[in-house]
Amino acid sequence: MSNTKPDIILPKGMLIGNAIVTTRDCIGVIDPASGKHFADAPNASQADLDAAVAAAKAAFPAWSARTWADRAEVLTRYIEAIRADIDNLAALLVCEQGKPFQKARSEVTSGLNFFSAYRGMELPVEVIGDAGTQRVEVRRIPLGVVGAITAWNYPVLLALWKIGPALITGNTLVLKPSPYTPLSVLRLGELAKDILPPGVLNVVSGGDELGRWMTDHPDISKIAFTGSTGTGKKIMASAATTLKRITLELGGNDAGIILPDFDVSAQVEDLFWTSFSNCGQVCASIKRLLVHESRMDQVCDGLVDVAKKVKIGAGFDSGVEIGPMQNRMQYDKVKKLIETAGDVGRIIHSGTIPNRDGYFLPLTIVRDVDPDSELWREEQFGPILPIRSYRDIDTAIAEANDSNYGLGASVWGVDLAAAEAVARRLHAGSVWTNTHPAMRPDIPFGGIKQSGYGVEFARYGLAEYTNVQVINVKRSG
Ligand code: NAD
Repeated sequence: MSNTKPDIILPKGMLIGNAIVTTRDCIGVIDPASGKHFADAPNASQADLDAAVAAAKAAFPAWSARTWADRAEVLTRYIEAIRADIDNLAALLVCEQGKPFQKARSEVTSGLNFFSAYRGMELPVEVIGDAGTQRVEVRRIPLGVVGAITAWNYPVLLALWKIGPALITGNTLVLKPSPYTPLSVLRLGELAKDILPPGVLNVVSGGDELGRWMTDHPDISKIAFTGSTGTGKKIMASAATTLKRITLELGGNDAGIILPDFDVSAQVEDLFWTSFSNCGQVCASIKRLLVHESRMDQVCDGLVDVAKKVKIGAGFDSGVEIGPMQNRMQYDKVKKLIETAGDVGRIIHSGTIPNRDGYFLPLTIVRDVDPDSELWREEQFGPILPIRSYRDIDTAIAEANDSNYGLGASVWGVDLAAAEAVARRLHAGSVWTNTHPAMRPDIPFGGIKQSGYGVEFARYGLAEYTNVQVINVKRSG
């Protein structure tokens, strides 16, 4: 693999049964801050996938037979190996994903916090009855080989959100990162090589077709997926042929509702970042804003003031807070939304971008947006925020709920009882007040409606990597 940054350790290949595997055919990896190819990653064949699944299947009996504490001890050593490589992983993220270095570092740290926390969330055996001639207990047993398929916006975080729960519950894993950002996740595979038993974790890279082979594979018991709603639907259909378990973390079009008592000076900066963080490429970020008419001008002005101060640039440049779009496909899609925004609303801010190549887009804020426009109804996944005003709260709630998506939502105001009352009427898997999103390993997270199926995190999320098994013992009387 070629490298324009000599201080970065690039992964040497895929991890299959603790061997590093390369392929003749490769996928090119682009630096989004230049638009230029800078490295290659393996392009797994169907035979490579079969080998990875076979290795995971062979590793399953011994790994699943270990105690929770024993698995936790092994995973602790893996967590420490990742921690020791944080700066390198962060640099890889900057190169392939585009985000600023410190944000990349935070991504790895956050993923490790989740991974660490799962070790202490053992799923207890529930004794339903133990009297007379009968003892009945309910256990949570691992599924077998899990296939994980992930997106490009938070490559390391999304991978660690799957590796931790799958392995601590006793499953073995075949993990496929997005073809746009394979390097950091391949590196996570390499770091496991001398720590985890062979086959417990396998990392394969390739295109969408590799994902399809995984969802079809007869020896994979579950697909844990993070990506778009469209792909999630295909995975659900494909999983039906072998009755795989699925967890789908999909897209969102989260609404934020600003109540009349919103404290603009204290809260507008937070509000800005709930929408523009990671260049708007966040699953649960505010993608539509509904502002009470009495505060509309102030909120719009406040957001524009914050936007004007933000530095956009390449991820290694100092002071940069927002990087480029991650890939050309998403750049083209959001660029078109920005170019046509004036037809569906009033553009109140269109920022500047660095004078260089790369997938940079101006931060764009649009008010009085047509509620039937694509900008309002679909997930933009980029740095453009549409805003509408409302007069009465029932209308705002109806507009917020008028979506096929239901990932997150938030309500903003000083009177917390009033904000909470509105929050309870919103149709989303998570509803926050005065923040958006707020994720923690001990709080379940998942979308309702077409934003997902099942949840991640906490014991709820771990349980999705298990089957319920009843042991029913009849004693002689
Ligand atoms: P995507 O659906 O295009 O791709 C995601 C992954 O699926 C990639 O690894 C891809 O190779 C693979 N894939 C594509 N077609 C497949 C198929 N038919 N079968 C199996 N695998 C297939 O999504 P993306 O563009 O990478 O990610 C952006 C989307 O992800 C956004 O909609 C965003 O909201 C969503 N997302 C959701 C969450 C969440 O937790 N809810 C988190 C991050 C991103």
